[in-house]
Amino acid sequence: MSKIILHLDLDAFFCRAEEIKNPSLEGKPFIVGGDGRKGIVSTCSYKAREYGIHSGMPTFQAKMLCKNILILPGDYHYYSLLSKEFINYLKRYSKKIQQMSIDECFLDLTEYYEKSGKKITEILKKIQNELFEKYKLKVSIGVGTTKFIAKMASDYKKPMGITIIRNRDIPKMLFPLPVKSFFGIGKKTVPKLNQLGIYTIGDLYNHCLNDLNEVNDVVGKFSADIINELEGKSSDEVSTEFIEPKSIGMSRTLDYDTNNREVILEMLEFQIDNVVDSMIEQQMLTKTIYLVYKDAACDNDFKEKSFSHSLNNYTDNKELIRKETISLFNKTYDGKVIRLIGFTLKNLKEKENTVVQMTFEDFAKHEENSKSFIIMNELNRVYNKPIFKKLSDLEK
Ligand SMILES: [Mg+2]
Repeated sequence: MSKIILHLDLDAFFCRAEEIKNPSLEGKPFIVGGDGRKGIVSTCSYKAREYGIHSGMPTFQAKMLCKNILILPGDYHYYSLLSKEFINYLKRYSKKIQQMSIDECFLDLTEYYEKSGKKITEILKKIQNELFEKYKLKVSIGVGTTKFIAKMASDYKKPMGITIIRNRDIPKMLFPLPVKSFFGIGKKTVPKLNQLGIYTIGDLYNHCLNDLNEVNDVVGKFSADIINELEGKSSDEVSTEFIEPKSIGMSRTLDYDTNNREVILEMLEFQIDNVVDSMIEQQMLTKTIYLVYKDAACDNDFKEKSFSHSLNNYTDNKELIRKETISLFNKTYDGKVIRLIGFTLKNLKEKENTVVQMTFEDFAKHEENSKSFIIMNELNRVYNKPIFKKLSDLEK
């Protein structure tokens, strides 16, 4: 039986995220992007698109097209938090989620569909409605038997589109589209295909059947996949690797080369704080701490030294990780002048699949902590600021 693959694509995600933060932006022409001389439009609101503005365009050009355009610098940390909420929400439908970028992913719905006994459109509408009601996010969903078809389907209707393309509907739905809409064919390739008389996706398919070599000369090896893709025979494997990173880390060059322990420790504390938070947000646990120092001794050839330390159990306890890291630092830092320090948590594991070995007391505490953490995150989300912190974090 063929699979049911979803491609979920958040609509004008960065702009939508800004609207969630500041609802007065809704319906206005604005962009997220750089404002300097070399600034580029990263995402534009649907209103801005009416002026002919599109992403990738230099910001000065956008200003010429729309004098009153608002330019927002982008808050990528906040966007990535929203993105995680999006992915975490989807996990209730399937563990097979392949995140392709901050605002899009594939999801294998086959098992859920079979078990639920619901209609496919009912499930899709529920996902779309819940993402809007709970998170205020707007999503377009495409469905196909392969990742390629699902991706093409999510592009078919936006924003807030739901498009199902059955294999038998491919010729009817995709073949009339201009060849530039074929996922994987870039802007520069289009005129070359036009020269071969290929204007639509249907033209491309027929040309591949009749003279694959000619298409091959233009698009390269990729041409061999085109027929399979358009017959619904390409990959339907949703790999989960992207969203389960094996490590999370951070390395920073110090403001100046130094062997001042206080300065280095301050930087390390900053890294611990951020990296552990990020791991907790991703609902992961760690078992290995990794430190790296870069010597400032030689001009070109900076020597790097790294050390790791394994913990007894998987954990996301910040205080414990902090203590163990400082102790690793005290054991391994040799007092030499360094230029950079890096801190990484390795050997990560998804939290819900992990059996945490705890004593009974630990367990009660763990439950309490995770409950308050969830409530805290909810509140911070309402205010869009980390106003609420755990007491243990404040007392430091
Ligand atoms: Mg998008």
